[in-house]
Amino acid sequence: MANNPKPQPNEWYVVRNSQIHGRGLYARKDIPKDTWIVEYVGERVDKDESDRRANALLDSAKESGGARVYMFILNDEWDIDGNVSWNTARLMNHSCEPNVEAQTWDEQEIWFVALHDIKKGEELTFNYGFDLECWEDHPCLCGKASCVGYIAGDDYWPALKKKVAAKKAREEKKLREAATVKKVAKGKKSVTKKVAAKKEVAAKTVAVSKKTVAKSVKAPAKKKQAKKSKPAAK
Ligand SMILES: [Zn+2]
Repeated sequence: MANNPKPQPNEWYVVRNSQIHGRGLYARKDIPKDTWIVEYVGERVDKDESDRRANALLDSAKESGGARVYMFILNDEWDIDGNVSWNTARLMNHSCEPNVEAQTWDEQEIWFVALHDIKKGEELTFNYGFDLECWEDHPCLCGKASCVGYIAGDDYWPALKKKVAAKKAREEKKLREAATVKKVAKGKKSVTKKVAAKKEVAAKTVAVSKKTVAKSVKAPAKKKQAKKSKPAAK
């Protein structure tokens, strides 16, 4: 391996708290395009063991909502389980605009390689390449202008964008329905008030008309008296 072009990993990055998630890898200095930055190391496992571990992690993720799968395909026979403490590359975060990509070295090693020139201090990111199964469980926090909102391989972006749009439409419909229910509730209140107001008016009218009736009852009596007295006066 005398011609091995891969540099020592620590030359290129430092581990720091990330604005995207947890800890992340940051460029220690300017990194030229095509630099082999860091090897993705871990335990070599065959495909059956890889499936078993991935499924176990997914099950625990369903319960805890948090686990990540660190399995990388190495070749037709072997995968690498990178969920080990000595694999600092596992801390690299996902981004919709990554500056690093994973490449295999002779199907024996997996390395992260600079996609373009990276400035000192930039966070190193790659695309996790997730498919769309459980896509809603993996929101993306990369903060890039082109962010599609969820962690997914760019092959899946057209389908993902449709799913995101449908989800948004569903949520907006829910909001509209909630607003309508509120309006109806408000409408009911004002109707009740109006009914109460009408009742008050009606009660007043009755009282007024009762008074009138009382007056008009008294009045004929007076008239009667007057009538009576008139002839008496004659
Ligand atoms: Zn994103």
